[in-house]
Amino acid sequence: MIGELPRPREWLAGVKPYRTESQAAEVRLQSNEWTEPTPLARYLTPSDLEDTLVNRYPDIAATELRTLLARRWGVTPEQIVLGNGSNEVLLYTFLIFGGSDRTLLVFTPTYTMYARLGRFTGMRVHEEGVGVPYALDAARVRDAVARVRPDVVCFSSPNNPTGDLIGDATILAAADVPRTLVLVDEAYAEFSGHTFLPRIAERANVVVARTFSKAQAAAGLRLGALVADPRIAAMYETARLPYNVSALTQLVATRILVDESGLADRVGRITEERARVERELGNLPDVVAYPSAANFVLLRHRTMAAAVLHAALLERGVLVRNVSSWPDAGESLRATIGNRDENDRLIDAMRAVLGDRGR
Ligand code: PMP
Repeated sequence: MIGELPRPREWLAGVKPYRTESQAAEVRLQSNEWTEPTPLARYLTPSDLEDTLVNRYPDIAATELRTLLARRWGVTPEQIVLGNGSNEVLLYTFLIFGGSDRTLLVFTPTYTMYARLGRFTGMRVHEEGVGVPYALDAARVRDAVARVRPDVVCFSSPNNPTGDLIGDATILAAADVPRTLVLVDEAYAEFSGHTFLPRIAERANVVVARTFSKAQAAAGLRLGALVADPRIAAMYETARLPYNVSALTQLVATRILVDESGLADRVGRITEERARVERELGNLPDVVAYPSAANFVLLRHRTMAAAVLHAALLERGVLVRNVSSWPDAGESLRATIGNRDENDRLIDAMRAVLGDRGR
């Protein structure tokens, strides 16, 4: 029967849909979201809803939102491109700079979407294995860039799934080759207190991606942004789908942005809880918890397979992400930092699993 179906392009063969952990669980620490509810009613009044008309298309340029973001990030509105989640601006990166005659360089383990999108556009994908701990420095990057001669280099900073902040010097080692496009994905930057953004004025070949899905506690809204040199941003504007950011998303995001104390509070709480979770997990026998600058922690047991530990935690109601299938991640699990109770559940479940095992 398959012979009668239209034939997809080559890249689709053997590629499976992107998977996340979707099992039911009381404690959901698998997707690096903000785990407490963000009701839309926090940002919208009944009269806002009356005034939001969806018979017309939204502002195609999202002027108010881009102006606010530009002020926040110290750039001009023309330097900002919005997407339906930051995944969409990542896709545009590959539509513009990818293609079958080009090479992508990533340092693994890292967010798997870069390699995936690179392959979608037919790129050669070079996964430079760094492993865990994620010891990536400028010398390592310089060496890989000289060998691989990439057209596009992607960094996740802090890195998903290891939590490491990528230093400016490490990023600059890739950006030193002026025609190479360097994507710095700062989905978790707020939790680290560091951003590459002030340096993009000196480096037209570096673009920075941000999202509302993590520290802004709005993963369901689907809003991401890319900050770039105005000439590069103009290329993204050409690739961008019209009206890709809905009227509702634009409105809610402007309200979220002005609530700066909410952001500071969330970042403060994550920073505190992260230190506690790292300490408590690290004290468990044979457990390694890697220091993180993000809202998640990578952990592994010295002898237990990731799938076994993952299943045992799930049996106790705690869902984390099994990242052991990600290239060079080893037998690791990634746990989102939740609220205090959720983190206690994770720590208690780990204790119970390891205790049971000892008996
Ligand atoms: N970049 C990184 C590093 C991520 O971890 C994620 C989400 N898991 C994204 C981008 C995409 O997030 P969103 O599309 O929700 O902005």
